[in-house]
Amino acid sequence: MLTIRDLRVRYGRSVAALHGIDLEVPDDGVVAVLGSNGAGKSTLLRAISGTLRMHRGTVSGGQIHYGDRRIDRLDPAAIVRLGVVGVPEGRQIFARMTVEENLRAGGIGASSATDRADARKRVLDLFPVLAERAKQRAGLLSGGEQQMLAIGRALMTGPSLLLLDEPSLGLAPKVVERIAETIREIHAQGTAVVLVEQNAVMALAVADSAVVLEVGKVALAGSAEELSASEDVQRLYLGGH
Ligand code: ATP
Repeated sequence: MLTIRDLRVRYGRSVAALHGIDLEVPDDGVVAVLGSNGAGKSTLLRAISGTLRMHRGTVSGGQIHYGDRRIDRLDPAAIVRLGVVGVPEGRQIFARMTVEENLRAGGIGASSATDRADARKRVLDLFPVLAERAKQRAGLLSGGEQQMLAIGRALMTGPSLLLLDEPSLGLAPKVVERIAETIREIHAQGTAVVLVEQNAVMALAVADSAVVLEVGKVALAGSAEELSASEDVQRLYLGGH
């Protein structure tokens, strides 16, 4: 279980980005984090993955635990070793490397060659297109394939909790549906997911529960059904009136 209590994050001295966030992600859960531009969704993921410092951000209050380990003071590599792995917004695959090399880079942290081979098989079963394109340069893949590669690379470490930052961004509806199916499959195989999305329709179709962030606070929280039925969510995020 990931447990976040009263999390506060600042960038530099002047920008307070999160003002006391509470969130729980059960080991078998998919939790969606919704909200408009600048609400603090990426900041929340950076705090969990330990990558805030790369963006000049700091946790200025509160705590994050994964199981019984406090992780908000650990560096990103230590957090990955605990099984918490992020796929950053904009995918950030190695464009000049082949698909195969990208996957191999993801598996570097695996504890043994057997683990690596198992993870590779699991990724290629999930994304057969990556096997077909194994020798191609990653930069030549379509947007959807690049997203699949980014997720596949993260899965090479065998995570127990996957952090996805806007996986549907810039993708056609059919491809978004494919990504949604993949997230369900990853969850069915026993990995918990935090899914940051502006695409609330997709996120609520995949998640068990969700929070809506507004200017660094949790404005709404509930089950995916409750939030789908909420008038505020309908009006703001689902195109209702
Ligand atoms: P988006 O979908 O646009 O990424 P978001 O909900 O993920 O939005 P964040 O990127 O987490 O929002 O940003 C939250 C707040 O923190 C915003 O006010 C943003 O301007 C600010 N912010 C984000 N990154 C930095 C940074 N590196 N330095 C200073 N301020 C930042």
